Amino acid sequence: MLALQNKPYRYKGKTLRLFVYAQVVIVSSFSILMAFTINTMVDVRDVLSDLTEEDVPIITQTAVLNNQVNRLATLTTVLSNSLSEPSRNLARKQIDQVVNRLQATIQNSVSENGFIERQISVISQEIDELEYLVQQRIVVEANLNNAIETFYVDKFNLLSTLKSADYSNALNQYLIRIVELSVKIERQDRLHLLRQTEKSLNDIFEQAIQNAKQIGDDQLVNGLTELYAQLNGTDGLINQKIAALRIVGRARGRDNFVRNLIADVARNLEHQTLLVNRSTKDSSTQASLKVKKQTTTAITVGLFLIFITLGIIMFLYRRIVQRLLSLSNQVDLASENKIETIKVEGNDEITNLGQTFAIYLSKVKEQEKALLNLSLSDPLTGIPNRRAFETELTNAMSQARRHRWNLSLMMIDVDFFKPYNDYYGHSDGDACLRLVANQLNQMVLRNTDFCARYGGEEFVCILPNTDSSGAKRKAEDLRRAIEKLAIEHSKSDISQYVTVSIGVASLPFDSDSSWLPKTIVEQADRALYSAKANGRNQCRFFSVN
Ligand code: GH3
Ligand code: MG
Ligand code: MG
Repeated sequence: MLALQNKPYRYKGKTLRLFVYAQVVIVSSFSILMAFTINTMVDVRDVLSDLTEEDVPIITQTAVLNNQVNRLATLTTVLSNSLSEPSRNLARKQIDQVVNRLQATIQNSVSENGFIERQISVISQEIDELEYLVQQRIVVEANLNNAIETFYVDKFNLLSTLKSADYSNALNQYLIRIVELSVKIERQDRLHLLRQTEKSLNDIFEQAIQNAKQIGDDQLVNGLTELYAQLNGTDGLINQKIAALRIVGRARGRDNFVRNLIADVARNLEHQTLLVNRSTKDSSTQASLKVKKQTTTAITVGLFLIFITLGIIMFLYRRIVQRLLSLSNQVDLASENKIETIKVEGNDEITNLGQTFAIYLSKVKEQEKALLNLSLSDPLTGIPNRRAFETELTNAMSQARRHRWNLSLMMIDVDFFKPYNDYYGHSDGDACLRLVANQLNQMVLRNTDFCARYGGEEFVCILPNTDSSGAKRKAEDLRRAIEKLAIEHSKSDISQYVTVSIGVASLPFDSDSSWLPKTIVEQADRALYSAKANGRNQCRFFSVN
């Protein structure tokens, strides 16, 4: 605590530094939090832009490629199964369109598809081969069909011949078996089974021709030999069937190969999609985790910072605002004279300000006191002036009323002072007045008594708690004391020294008394007038009667 008289110590910039530190702490904490959040958001934005600019287009394009590859597989099957030239042509045309579209898609693709592009060009070459085989198969199958038709006609001719003849049962059996086996050959689609059937057919023919020769039926022998040639000759049905089976086998093999290649491409695309999907999923999960984590961090740190900020605000409020308010309050109270000193705790600029205020306050009070004294005292004699007398008289009357005292008032006037002034000069006149005042002041022994210069060469004395007899005694003492000063006055008509006339008034007081200050002054004045009229240098008393 600091008392008023302590000299202030200078605390330069302490509060300012405190403010600046608090601001720096708050601003930098929020900036760091913001920087972290922005950084995370930038990361997340990068992940999202990767997703939209790369992953999503890749997935879309891969889906398109997959569709086209599936369509290629279907069309390859259509091509393989084509039974005629027009259908083969149509299938091929559609395949070419799909391959072109595939290549265009791959070339416009954002991802690296070099391997798939090479696979597509291999597939395209293999489809050329496949188409060539299909073309051959169509020709071979057409030839085979022609051969079968011819064979059927001849076979029927032979069978009708057989019907009309009456052959042994064994031969009949051979012939029926030949017909059976030839039908089997037509329908056979396995090369090794065809070979077996061919072998059985050879045996049967051999036995049948043998049998026909034994019978001696030359026509039958010729018919059988011709039929055998149609079946087993160089251009025979069996060879054509073999050629057809071979070409069908090759075509099927090529078809399988091509379809495996296409399936390979499809698998590659699926794998690519899977990889992209996985990376997309990973990136999104990562981004969402980051956002979640950052949100939690931002909320936690934000709340923490808000608490810190509130703490700093509270601290500043207590440290600065509250103390300033207290200081301002104390200054108000001090200026209303309700408190004597200003006290500010601590050791900073506000304390300093409080000390300064305290010092100024004491100086102002001193000056106020000096001014008051100045305004209430008479500059010439140094005793209280008329204004001080009026205040004092009012107070003394209230006090007398309260205590039911008697109050007496003396009015003192220097005799023949005008001639004194005229004869001795104004400055001697002043000196004379000072001597009289000084004497009066010394004579007022009681603390409660009060003397003042009323104006000019007139003085007044208030004598509280003094009745008329006491006042009479005091007045006479005063008069004599002035005479005893022996201030030469050659122009006085009644003495060789300066004398005074005194008018005295005494008033009894009780709680109902309604005497006014001017009443007692008037009464004393009338008594003084009477003293003057009666010859001067004497005391006269006012009586109500
Ligand atoms: P009386 O006996 O009837 O009182 O006559 P008086 O001459 O004393 O009274 P009067 O009222 O006629 O004169 C008062 C004089 O006092 C007039 C003035 O020159 C003088 N005087 C008043 N104030 C001062 C002052 O401050 N200094 C001086 N030197 N003279 C003063
Ligand atoms: Mg006078
Ligand atoms: Mg006079």
